[in-house]
Amino acid sequence: LRRRIIRAEKMEVVGHLAASISHEVRNPLTVSRGFMQLLLQSERMNYKDKQYIQIAIEEIDRAEAIITDYLTFAKPAPEHVEKLNVKTEIERVIDILRPLANMNSIEIQTSLLPFAVKGERQKFQQCLLNVMKNAIEAMPSGGTLRINVSIDKDYVLIHIGDTGVGMTKEQIERLGEPYFTTKGAKGTGLGMMVVYRIVETMKGDLFIHSEVGEGTDVYMYFPSYYKSDIEKSSGRPQFEQVSY
Ligand code: ADP
Ligand code: MG
Repeated sequence: LRRRIIRAEKMEVVGHLAASISHEVRNPLTVSRGFMQLLLQSERMNYKDKQYIQIAIEEIDRAEAIITDYLTFAKPAPEHVEKLNVKTEIERVIDILRPLANMNSIEIQTSLLPFAVKGERQKFQQCLLNVMKNAIEAMPSGGTLRINVSIDKDYVLIHIGDTGVGMTKEQIERLGEPYFTTKGAKGTGLGMMVVYRIVETMKGDLFIHSEVGEGTDVYMYFPSYYKSDIEKSSGRPQFEQVSY
C-alpha cells in the first residue's frame, strides 16, 4: 500500500511538471522567437545567417506545436475523473479555435446537446481540440466545420465533420501512428495518437470516414455518464460500422 501511495505522489509530480512545461516553457519560446524575428529584419545579417535563424524559428514552432498537441489544457492541480457536460466542453474548445477558423474562412456549424460523460476534463478537451484542429487545418481555403452531438444507445456520439482535403485509405490506416503527418515541418504527427489514447482511457471508440477532396467525418463514442459503470461488466460493446 505504501508503495502505491508513493507512486501516486510521483504521478502527481508528473502532472505538475506537465503543467509547468506548458505554461513556463511556452513563454521563453515565444520570447526567443520574437528576438529571432527581429534578427531576421536586421540589415547586418547576411543571407546564410538568416537561413540559420529561419531554421531556429521553425524548430521553435515545432516545439510549440508539440506542446499544443499534448498540454493545451494542462493545469498545476492533479486531474480527476468527473461528470463532463459535452456541450460545455465542446463550446470551450470552439472558443479557443475560433481565431484559427476565422483565419481560414471556416464556418462553424453546431448542434450540441448537454449529455454527460465521465472523464478528466483536460484530457477530454485536448482530445476534442486535436480532432477539431485537424479538421480546420484540412480546410486551408475555407469550408465548414460541423459538430453534432447525439445519443446512440448508451453512448454519447460526437460527430466532427469537415469539408477539407480528406484522406486516402493508407492515410486513414496510419492515423494515430506516432509522427505520421502530411503537414511537413508544421505537423507533429502526435495529435491523433493523443486522441486515440484518451478515447481508449474513457472506454470510448472512434470511427473515421474520409474521401479525398470531399472531407472527413470523425465519430467519437463515449459511454454515457449514467451507463458508464454498467458497461464494465459486459465488456466492450460492438458498434456497427457507421454506413454511408
Ligand atoms: P498533425 O496534425 O500534426 O499532422 P495528427 O496526428 O493530428 O498530426 O494527424 C496526422 C495526419 O492525419 C495529418 O497530418 C493529416 O494527414 C491526417 N488528418 C488528420 N485529420 C484530418 C482531417 N480532418 N482531414 C484530413 N486529414 C487529416
Ligand atoms: Mg493534428
